[in-house]
Amino acid sequence: MSAPQTPITQDVLTLPRKGEEEGKRNLVGLTRDQMREALIAIGTPEKQAKMRVGQVWAWIYQRGVRDFAEMTNLAKAYRAQLDEHFVIRVPEIVTKAVSEDGTRKYLLRIAGGHEVEAVYIPEESRGTLCISSQVGCTLTCSFCHTGTQRLVRNLTAGEIVGQILVARDDLGEWPEPGRNPHDETRLLSNIVLMGMGEPLYNFDNVRDGMKIAMDPEGISLSRRRITLSTSGVVPMIARTAEEIGCLLAVSFHATTDEVRDTLVPINKRWNIEALLGALKDYPRLSNSERITFEYVMLKGVNDSDEDAHRLVELIRGIPAKINLIPFNPWPGAPYDRSSNNRIRAFADIIYKAGYASPIRTPRGEDIMAACGQLKSETERERKSKRQIEAEARA
Ligand code: SAH
Ligand code: SF4
Repeated sequence: MSAPQTPITQDVLTLPRKGEEEGKRNLVGLTRDQMREALIAIGTPEKQAKMRVGQVWAWIYQRGVRDFAEMTNLAKAYRAQLDEHFVIRVPEIVTKAVSEDGTRKYLLRIAGGHEVEAVYIPEESRGTLCISSQVGCTLTCSFCHTGTQRLVRNLTAGEIVGQILVARDDLGEWPEPGRNPHDETRLLSNIVLMGMGEPLYNFDNVRDGMKIAMDPEGISLSRRRITLSTSGVVPMIARTAEEIGCLLAVSFHATTDEVRDTLVPINKRWNIEALLGALKDYPRLSNSERITFEYVMLKGVNDSDEDAHRLVELIRGIPAKINLIPFNPWPGAPYDRSSNNRIRAFADIIYKAGYASPIRTPRGEDIMAACGQLKSETERERKSKRQIEAEARA
């Protein structure tokens, strides 16, 4: 008989953390209404509940407090009562890598011992945090390393907003007690949902997490500083406009259905025409500006002059910016990155047609900060370690 197989994602890291083992509920990620109900359920008088939510909310999301004892505008007995029933829990940093260019890449552990990544990218006028929405992905885009990993689970709203809290901890971006939280210059000023996973396949949690990030009495990021990237889950695009209202990016990547079917297989379900239909309505529904069309540059696959011309024809009438992404190779990937000259020629055609066509500069290359890479490295190490153990047992 062979030894029982250990599931890939259940590793030695599954020990519950303090608080969890006592069944305490995490307050991070609850909407205001959910927090109000939770406070009432532990005996907070209904009349006071809204005010208490406001106080606890500000401690968590404006001040970065994780211990109820520090919530000094609440009575001591009430702080103890909160502590008895709740925790303020954010993902744990497993590893952090800081690039020469200041990019920070975090590998984060969430409940169940799963891991996701977040990347902080400092720029002159802003600091952007790239966050994940799922562990793995159900989709199988052929150029994406995350696509080769099976979906393990959706992140909760708390784990989604928790990535922002962890990054602010690491950046030391919580105001000193007594200082107005709105005075701070923002190190973390923008969010992009471009990490692991398809955010529109985890819609409710992404929406709740982003609502918390936008709440004016908390992290208070404007909806124009949040960009959600989707591979093209057409039926959820209008809801994104109506219920989140953030900026939208779309992983377009091809100009014919034939090529897009192979690169972004969700195209077989909702093709280019259906996708463009939904995108046309987005700016009006969300009252926002341009849509970002992401376009990964793959040598000999989607990078010809004809592709560039077709692209500008397809998106005519949609306020758009086209973000050209040089392909980030990974071991075993079936593609190569287009040459710099080819990318520039492609960008030029788009620019001459009247669209902004920035080429995304690879950041944090020395720490493998391209989305998907750090997590995959760790998974590979784990797998081979397990293989070695299995062989030893046999
Ligand atoms: N699942 C969502 C968001 C995450 S991916 C989506 O697909 O839109 C963020 C962006 O990185 C997407 O445009 C994705 O297509 C792109 N991407 C994925 N793997 C890549 C790679 N190896 N090189 C360059 N871009 C990649
Ligand atoms: Fe999933 Fe996006 Fe990667 Fe496609 S590109 S496999 S949707 S994470």
